[in-house]
Amino acid sequence: MGVDIGGTNTVFGIVDARGQVLASDSIKTLKHANFDDYIEELHAGMQRLIKANDAEGKIQGIGIGAPNANYYTGEIQNPPNLPWGPIIPLAEKLSKIFGGLPVAVTNDANAAALGEMTYGAARGMKDFIMITLGTGVGSGIVVNGQLVYGHDGFAGELGHLVVKRNNGRVCGCGRTGCLEAYCSATGVARTAREFLEISQEPSSLRNLQIEDITSKDVYDAAVAGDKLAKEIFDYTGKILGEALADMVAFSSPQAIILFGGLAKSGDLLLRPLKENFEKSLFPIFRGKTKIILSELKESDAAVLGASALGWEAKYRYEVPSFDHQLTDHTLPSADSNK
Ligand SMILES: [Zn+2]
Repeated sequence: MGVDIGGTNTVFGIVDARGQVLASDSIKTLKHANFDDYIEELHAGMQRLIKANDAEGKIQGIGIGAPNANYYTGEIQNPPNLPWGPIIPLAEKLSKIFGGLPVAVTNDANAAALGEMTYGAARGMKDFIMITLGTGVGSGIVVNGQLVYGHDGFAGELGHLVVKRNNGRVCGCGRTGCLEAYCSATGVARTAREFLEISQEPSSLRNLQIEDITSKDVYDAAVAGDKLAKEIFDYTGKILGEALADMVAFSSPQAIILFGGLAKSGDLLLRPLKENFEKSLFPIFRGKTKIILSELKESDAAVLGASALGWEAKYRYEVPSFDHQLTDHTLPSADSNK
């Protein structure tokens, strides 16, 4: 089963080995102030789904995508938008209530990367980077067939690469100039407000309340031929293309896969993106890395991605041990740098 814990809804579904979401349902994430009550409702909902689909005894593992989820510890750590405390022992609690079923957690962008690798556009690829363009910009990095988790479980925050060193926009993370502040849906809306203020150009966007403009409004205007709206996409595509080129220098991926609402803007975004991507690449990488769109259906993607982690919990790795301490990592000896 795959579970996707979002700020509003928790969606869960039963997925078969071929990547078909057989059934899914959801509960409200924020209904319970107490985490144990939430887990009980989630468990009851999942059990209902299992019963209704004759899947009793057939569930092999559970994967969960959640904000600030740490793959190593199975916890959600310091989530900004969940009320259950700083450390939430998600995998441990759910595994226990399901009688010891393997449970693994990671953040939603990593889950999306696993979903793409197991069921989508990255099937057969060993090196790729998944970029999710939603309210924020998330990423999952796969190197040599494995997701990169880093030493603390939180690797792959490429949305917070700084793309503007001077006078950059304030980002939700508290720093300035992050990619996310420009190339997310909210970033595009911010660009629209900026452009409308500094330019005199006529635009249908001027008919809207400036504070209420969304990336969808900008998209609709651009599709209708609005020049300023197209310039907003050119600006967004350029920044994203340049940033993706820098990411290639890190892991030389076969492909960068784009997912999320903004990725569906088609050539409005992709043309300026690809142009600036190719010319910003370190020469040795030019012409080698494809920019492609996710092949996962948006409504299924979160549950599919999380379920792929469930398979991983069962087959590829040991079930993460929940008393894992970061200090357990063996540090490389000083010799290894020579
Ligand atoms: Zn940031």
